[in-house]
Amino acid sequence: MILFKDIITLQDYLNRQKLHNLKTGFVPTMGALHVGHISLITKAKSANDLVICSIFVNPTQFNNVSDLEKYPKTLEADIDKLEAAGCDVLFLPSVSEMYKEGIENKHYELGYLETILEGKYRPGHFQGVSIIVDKLLLAVMPDVLYMGRKDYQQCMVVETMMEIEKHKVILEICDTMRETDGLAMSSRNMRLNETERKQALRIFECLMIIKNEMKPGNLIHLKQKATNFLLSNGYKVDYTEIADAETLKLQDNWDGKKKLVALVAAYLNEVRLIDNIVL
Ligand code: AMP
Repeated sequence: MILFKDIITLQDYLNRQKLHNLKTGFVPTMGALHVGHISLITKAKSANDLVICSIFVNPTQFNNVSDLEKYPKTLEADIDKLEAAGCDVLFLPSVSEMYKEGIENKHYELGYLETILEGKYRPGHFQGVSIIVDKLLLAVMPDVLYMGRKDYQQCMVVETMMEIEKHKVILEICDTMRETDGLAMSSRNMRLNETERKQALRIFECLMIIKNEMKPGNLIHLKQKATNFLLSNGYKVDYTEIADAETLKLQDNWDGKKKLVALVAAYLNEVRLIDNIVL
């Protein structure tokens, strides 16, 4: 695996590779890699000639300073995992490399998507995600971009940003990898102590309550039941919601036909966990 820290040398290398008509797959990450991230690399590897991964903890997408400061960093282990997975290129830029002009004021018209769920509870987060994915796509110019359904709304935001900025990249959304008990893999799980790790499973169980008890008609009671389940298990809940899987419009009623997604975000002490399940 070849490591690049600046955009110019990365582009120089990639341009030379692309002369051979190589198909490129790109997996942007914030590091602290786990099996979920590696599943994206493996998927990219199976469908491309060259796989590029980036590790960059993007400050502009953190709306909470302590969350940014406490974000896990495991670079050496990450490099080992990427090499074992057959990743070809690692892009590891600094903050000043990605934000050469300082933090820009560029604004993306994300509309409704930015006003709900993560957008509502993490103001500015999706502007930060958009700006960094936009910059990374300009730097890497891949054929296919791989992202995880674990961040359901983020995938929709990135799709919207790519339309606005006219990126000619295919977005491939990959399934959520889970621990054997069902907990969605996440870099933030590293911050959980033993007791919290057990409690963290309640997030998945909450989604299962929604999945198993979904019936056509009013959904408000079911959403309340799911919220109460988390509250009674010591969580501070941001949201337990059910939305249209295509548009993410929040739903209080179900006609029994529309494809829906249940989404949850809640704090277990200091750690904010999110998960979702397509119903
Ligand atoms: P992050 O490092 O958290 O920014 O994640 C980088 C990419 O990995 C994003 O596209 C995530 O959606 C994806 N990802 C994170 N966790 C998982 C998981 N458990 N399964 C599959 N993909 C994931």
